[in-house]
Amino acid sequence: MTSGGKPLFDRVAILGIGLIGSSLARAIKRDGMAGTLVAGDIGPGVAARALALGIVDEATEDLVAAVTDADLVVLCAPVGACEVIAEAIGPVLKPGCIVSDVGSIKERVIAMVAPHLPDGVHLIPGHPVAGTEKSGPESGFAELFQGRWCILTPPKGADEGALARVAEMWRRAGMIIEVMEPAHHDRVLAITSHLPHLIAYTIVGTASDLEDHLHREVIKFSASGFRDFTRIAGSDPIMWRDIFLNNQEAVLDILQRFTEDLTALQRAIRRGEGETLEALFTKTRAVRQAVVDAKQA
Ligand code: NAP
Repeated sequence: MTSGGKPLFDRVAILGIGLIGSSLARAIKRDGMAGTLVAGDIGPGVAARALALGIVDEATEDLVAAVTDADLVVLCAPVGACEVIAEAIGPVLKPGCIVSDVGSIKERVIAMVAPHLPDGVHLIPGHPVAGTEKSGPESGFAELFQGRWCILTPPKGADEGALARVAEMWRRAGMIIEVMEPAHHDRVLAITSHLPHLIAYTIVGTASDLEDHLHREVIKFSASGFRDFTRIAGSDPIMWRDIFLNNQEAVLDILQRFTEDLTALQRAIRRGEGETLEALFTKTRAVRQAVVDAKQA
């Protein structure tokens, strides 16, 4: 509620009520941030499941009906669906409505959504940097966002009032706000999130291609390090397909550097250069400590 007891938004529509959408819905409910909270999701039975969970006031498979009269619409479907959703809802958005999103990439999302929004509708893209490898409305929880960063990437000339309201919503959900250029966001996330996922997908893919008996032992002795990669590689295939297809340039650039560093490491192992390995592992241990100190572990 605001200081006067009025919710932050009269009507909020969350489109895509999966892990992130349903976690946001729970946080909005917990904090009384919306007069009415609506879920729109075209997944078979997903909207009905969200309603049955009691995390929204209304739920529908009709996205146009969901956003009608909304003063905040948050796109929480996979990023590849953003364009088709924006095209469908654009004509019915009311003047002054804020459209935001939670997509893991920002430049392409803005390019897909902005052209479909009428004048007087404000686009404030966002990325709550919090998640799990699970999907669907049952897997969400309000505390997902607690103490994590939310990166907002308003386009040039974005409405300041709209930006402040979206920031306030995420702050009340427990997040710390950072405002960034969309392209910069995509480069930062390519190294902190997209590359680690690509490595995990590769390692687990290589292991699953091994001959049968070895594969069984990989699973059996997975606690020795492989397990952490399987958790990451268990993430939603559609979501990650869309991320790599829509952040091509930044991912390929960082992958090139990674490949060069890997080759250097390969050479150090072959030549028995212990100091090179030790120096790198000492440096990376300090990075781990910095992550722990920043309470992001
Ligand atoms: P999710 O659990 O799979 O939820 C996505 C929901 O959107 C599903 O219910 C899906 O239905 C529905 N959907 C698919 N296409 C749609 C469309 N055209 N219109 C309306 N609904 C549609 O995925 P998620 O993990 O919450 O991810 C959603 C977004 O959050 C993505 O953009 C992702 O980049 C971003 N994000 C994810 C994480 C994370 O760790 N998971 C973290 C930060 C940001 P079906 O299941 O039936 O297809």
